[in-house]
Amino acid sequence: MRKTVTKLADGRELVYYDPDGFEVRDATDLRTPEPAAVRPELRLDPVLGDWVTVAAHRQGRPYQPPAGDCPLCPSRRGRSTEIPAADYNVVVFENRFPSLSTQGAGRAPDSRSPLFRAEPGTGRCEVVCFTSDHDASFAGLSESRAALVLDAWIDRTTELAALPDVRQVYCFENRGAEIGVTLSHPHGQIYAYPFLTPRTGKMIARAAEYRGRTGRNLAEDLLAAERLDRRRLVLTGTHWTAFVPFAARWPYEVHLYPHRRVPDLPALGPAERAELPPIYLELLRRFDRLFDTPAGVDATDGGGGPTPSAPTPYIAAWHQAPRYGGEELSLHLELFTIRRAANKFKFLAGVESGQDAFVNDVLPEAAARRLREVAS
Ligand SMILES: [Zn+2]
Repeated sequence: MRKTVTKLADGRELVYYDPDGFEVRDATDLRTPEPAAVRPELRLDPVLGDWVTVAAHRQGRPYQPPAGDCPLCPSRRGRSTEIPAADYNVVVFENRFPSLSTQGAGRAPDSRSPLFRAEPGTGRCEVVCFTSDHDASFAGLSESRAALVLDAWIDRTTELAALPDVRQVYCFENRGAEIGVTLSHPHGQIYAYPFLTPRTGKMIARAAEYRGRTGRNLAEDLLAAERLDRRRLVLTGTHWTAFVPFAARWPYEVHLYPHRRVPDLPALGPAERAELPPIYLELLRRFDRLFDTPAGVDATDGGGGPTPSAPTPYIAAWHQAPRYGGEELSLHLELFTIRRAANKFKFLAGVESGQDAFVNDVLPEAAARRLREVAS
């Protein structure tokens, strides 16, 4: 992998990831820098104890621009985008509309009560473009390109975790307008948080409780139990296993674990790294096929019939141990879709949004069976 670090006109960092021996990256950003009004702040919810990021400047970001105005396509004569080069393989840059920022992070507002605790939104948000092809998708990438994206995730995790104040690094992809994606160009994001996210904090507490009670590691025991049970297994490799979790919250949800417990992507060994791209691509391709045929679990229900042309919206979330305090955690992927049938979506309504108590309409064992049926 060849890495080229550059700066955009407004000072944001942009990094090209290319195969070894690839061309020199020396294109410059010809745009006039616009002043960034970045003042994210963190507020502590006094009732739940969770940090909430307030980033009012994000209201102005582009929403579903036409393909000709895509800011993630390469720059062409007369039209400069976020990527100055005329083409690229994988590129990462600092988000122009970040929820967290190392530059100009908001000052904590003055507060008259200790209940109103706030901090500057220090951290970093990056965009990862998987390909220069506007109409592609991650599932359609070659194995070598997926491996280059993995190289980028590993490099970014290492670099961002080394920044002052960063507590955890989160790589993820939102796919599909139904999920709320504002740009359709294939891309993911990376958040470097200055705090422990509520979900990671909860995972740490559960793993610590399990260790205290049994003397064992929760992730290792869970993986072993799913492999023994087999009913929810989706895919097994030499170094990785994917399964639908016993208490899945989403209609189709898959967790992918390495067999050897490691804290994060940079800790993967060469064999684990080599096997990940084909397995990850296979999982995404199965997600795209979930609702393609009339044999779908619930595809004929609802009268509208399957809509094969609409790609499955999904969220791919890489859980990595934080910089400290996460010794019991295991690197893993949580991949899920909000689509529960060809033309039906799972919305987070009263019980989920109001109480954080999920109701799943699809039996996890049936979801796993369907995910095995649509294997390549
Ligand atoms: Zn594009």
